Amino acid sequence: MEKEQRVVIVTGSSRGIGAAIAEKFASLGDSVVILYHQNKEKALLLKQELEAKYSVQTLCMACDVTSEDNIKEVVQNVIKTFGRIDVLVNNAGIDQSSFVSEKTKEDFIQLLDVNLIGPFLFSRAVAPFMQEQKKGSIINISSTNGMGDGHPMSLEYDASKAGLNSLTKNLAKEYAPYIRVNALAPGWVKTDMAICEDKEVEALFIKEESKNIFLQRFAEPSEIASTVSFLASSAASYINGTIIRIDGGY
Ligand code: NAP
Repeated sequence: MEKEQRVVIVTGSSRGIGAAIAEKFASLGDSVVILYHQNKEKALLLKQELEAKYSVQTLCMACDVTSEDNIKEVVQNVIKTFGRIDVLVNNAGIDQSSFVSEKTKEDFIQLLDVNLIGPFLFSRAVAPFMQEQKKGSIINISSTNGMGDGHPMSLEYDASKAGLNSLTKNLAKEYAPYIRVNALAPGWVKTDMAICEDKEVEALFIKEESKNIFLQRFAEPSEIASTVSFLASSAASYINGTIIRIDGGY
């Protein structure tokens, strides 16, 4: 039997975890939609690499997930190109670290816009197509920060991810029985988000934080991507409305 070729959209896939997720699906022979916000060059490079390495079809577009018009444009384009949407990975995200006294309302709103409202708008835009196919999988990239440890410096990020976990449950209920909606909550992952400009500070930070992790290291983006591909697969056909921690034991 020929393997089913899925159409997979990954938001924020120009770099980091999103790029690893795009590569994982491409390695399985799926058609991948690479979306970038500002890093067009990196996204185009990834498109070239995936097409050359895995002989898959890809689409690369700009998409700011805070713009409903951008999202609609992407969905229309994907349907025009591939005729279907099987998997949506709401991966795009931003973080902020600052003293509580210095946080502004504007920054707080911007963060919620990207990390929480974006996934809502994108999920709602793809759902009718998945419903029509009677099949689909939506995976939200959340964070262990949304699961209650408490980090005042990133309280708006934590709130956005706690909100995303709630959104996951609600959409799983709303879109049942055909669309499964799940979230992954990674701990520390080696990407731009987890590193800082000062390499000495970064090395010290990674060393200290790794002491709190049973596996004594940060995750590789590919380790998050493997779990995303599992959640999207038929092997996870009964997993729905769930938030899976992937933090190496913390
Ligand atoms: P990253 O390396 O900073 O990459 C962020 C991605 O999001 C980039 O592709 C960026 O696009 C995109 N993006 C930013 N603002 C956007 C917007 N307004 N619209 C659309 N795309 C936008 O981050 P990462 O570490 O890979 O994080 C990916 C996801 O994992 C995030 O949701 C993050 O919260 C979550 N996460 C990360 C960690 C970690 O330790 N790294 C841990 C737990 C959860 P451009 O580059 O094109 O601008």
